[in-house]
Amino acid sequence: MTNPLQKYFRQPKVFITLPSKGMYYPEGALTGDPNNFPILAMTGMDEIIMKTPDALLNGEATVKVIESCCPYIKDAWSVPNIDIDAILVGIRIATYGDILTLDNTCPSCTTENSYEVDLKTITDHLSKCQFNHSMAIDPISINFRPLTYREFTEENLKSFYLRRQVFQSAEIDDQEAQQKVLEDAYAKLAEMKADLVIKRIDSVQTIENMVEDANFISEWIQNSDREVFDTITKFLDNSQETWNIPKFQAKCTSCDHVDQISINLDQASFFVIAS
Ligand SMILES: [Zn+2]
Repeated sequence: MTNPLQKYFRQPKVFITLPSKGMYYPEGALTGDPNNFPILAMTGMDEIIMKTPDALLNGEATVKVIESCCPYIKDAWSVPNIDIDAILVGIRIATYGDILTLDNTCPSCTTENSYEVDLKTITDHLSKCQFNHSMAIDPISINFRPLTYREFTEENLKSFYLRRQVFQSAEIDDQEAQQKVLEDAYAKLAEMKADLVIKRIDSVQTIENMVEDANFISEWIQNSDREVFDTITKFLDNSQETWNIPKFQAKCTSCDHVDQISINLDQASFFVIAS
């Protein structure tokens, strides 16, 4: 029998537009209308998951909570990374409301100020962002795709451990051994950076062919002048910047000094609020 309590189950509280407009999802990972994307509030269990540091670091927490709160998403690991911030902000709005309180100490006069940010301005900003999907390096053009949340998380984890390796190498007494650990970490970080650029290339259009084979693309990058790689990296970095969440202009209540505050969507702090 159907649960008679079903009509009291949580209902969608927020509807957003996915920045990807539903593109870049593999078959079956997303259903429904990406321009009218419903989001439910977190359950008590979701909230507990969001407070588990290990689950946050490896992406498990985010994936579980997205799948719990977004009925249209069937596989959160394959969500294109450009949609993740909008979805997380949507989940926070659905759970705790539109307002985020920011505390800031004025750098000019040290007054403690408290500000209210309307989170809808962030989902609006993100819904208007465009994914820059191609660039030309005459005579070829390169088509890009966003990383999936799985790729993004894996890279983040790798980079986290490599940076930790660099940090911990300070404790190695033997200089030669320390040098070796550092060189190894820096080589891996450089390799990771190249790998990330290659992963984001979806295809390359030449005069004769459309090349989609990842191995061919990787081989081409490895056999190109460094200017080609730099041009692509710069293009990707610039595109990334347009997606950054605008800084909040915080005007001090006592001295009128305006401070620019970054809004941190880091899940651990963003989702844990005093109620
Ligand atoms: Zn001030």
